[in-house]
Amino acid sequence: MKRNMRRLVVLMLILTLAFTSSIAYAGEAKEVKAPKYIFYFIGDGLGLSQRQVGELFLQEASNDKSKKLMMNTLPVTGLKTTYSSNTLVTDSAAAGTALATGHKTDNGVISKTPDGKDLKTILELAEEKGYATGLVSTTRITHATPASFASHNVNRDNENEIAVDFLDSGVEFFAGGGYRHFAPKAWEFGKSKRKDERDLLKEFAGLGYNVFAGEKDSANFLKFAPKGKEKVFAALSYSHLPYDIDRLSTLDTPSLSQLTEKGIEVLSQYEDGFFMMVEGGRIDHAAHSNDPVGTIHDVLAFDDAIKKAYKFYEKNPADTLIIVAADHETGGLGLGMGLDYFLNLEELFDVKASTEAIGYEDKKYDGNREEYFKYIEKVYSLENLTEKERAEIEKAMDLEDKGIEGSKREYGYLTKEPTAIAVAHVISNRANIYWTTFAHSGVPIPLTAVGVNAEDFSGYNDNTMIAKKLAKIIGGEL
Ligand SMILES: [Zn+2]
Repeated sequence: MKRNMRRLVVLMLILTLAFTSSIAYAGEAKEVKAPKYIFYFIGDGLGLSQRQVGELFLQEASNDKSKKLMMNTLPVTGLKTTYSSNTLVTDSAAAGTALATGHKTDNGVISKTPDGKDLKTILELAEEKGYATGLVSTTRITHATPASFASHNVNRDNENEIAVDFLDSGVEFFAGGGYRHFAPKAWEFGKSKRKDERDLLKEFAGLGYNVFAGEKDSANFLKFAPKGKEKVFAALSYSHLPYDIDRLSTLDTPSLSQLTEKGIEVLSQYEDGFFMMVEGGRIDHAAHSNDPVGTIHDVLAFDDAIKKAYKFYEKNPADTLIIVAADHETGGLGLGMGLDYFLNLEELFDVKASTEAIGYEDKKYDGNREEYFKYIEKVYSLENLTEKERAEIEKAMDLEDKGIEGSKREYGYLTKEPTAIAVAHVISNRANIYWTTFAHSGVPIPLTAVGVNAEDFSGYNDNTMIAKKLAKIIGGEL
């Protein structure tokens, strides 16, 4: 009896201790300071299906069911609606504006209200609060998502104007593609889209930036080691950086994870912390082309970049916040089709290039059917085409032979290349994957997060909440 009493007292003591320590913990959690380091990852076109098929591919290709995408292991999860102010299916400009400013606008508009007033962005607020800032993307750096953080324009296509806006944005680290909007008209290393006489590369250098432009500068960019607080401007390709699967085969440009790593290296020299937006910008493009393998490899490349941030978080857990979001889903990607209860992802293992095939052999259908069928057998692993598959591809070839640019409804994004779209559909169908659109879809996007105040971003709510909460966390308002 006495012994039982003693046991009871010990048990009560343990319970009391556990209870008080959990209260103390909850109290502490409420008083957490603003994170010193903020990573805002945005997968363009990264819906739930894209995240899931990336993870399944990883598991099946390695024959290891325990493998996870880093982004799918983060402890906080939310779903965010993405509609814009004028349509239920957003584009990347309106979605980028919502993610950057916490406000809805019309499709096509960059960080302005539908009636043209500038909206303050979370990056601009972070600058005011003393954070160093970075913008990283695999697209042209003037493309809709990065543009939404550091410029304001009525039209996302005004990329020459967006490039000029970047000059006085105060952003310390730019890295992506698209020198064509910065290089002068007569640039010895490549073409330019500028209509004026300005050389923005020189202007960035004049502002104290270390400038890297064109593929030729990729190695110099990777070698660059900051000596204290330095600024970097890098636009390493004429337009977008290549799809990761094509980059892997031949091209000598950095991966998204290398760009992110360099950003961390440069920005962590600033003692007051940093805010960094990293976009996996071409998941969207591959999904517009209904290309499952291009999509999957860009999802995996995006996840590799998140791993770099996570490593940084592990070293600075009390000071770091990582958010992984998306602007919208692209392609209406369905995992499963018809009457079948399976996916055949092994059909995708030996595909060696995106269906745009840039970087591999850059082979387009040019009228020589035999040669093209040989090519897709080698590159896309499309041997033993069934009659139906062959007919599907030949129907697209007929269209190209007649010199007709494929109808947008039938062949979508790559209107000049119906054959490439037909090949993407054959590959998809072999894997039992289906696409409902060549555009974006209206489904909510998943968000995951870890670190200081990460729990604030959970719930099924709207994409505008992310920037608004972030602003509050760093002591401001949008
Ligand atoms: Zn898109």
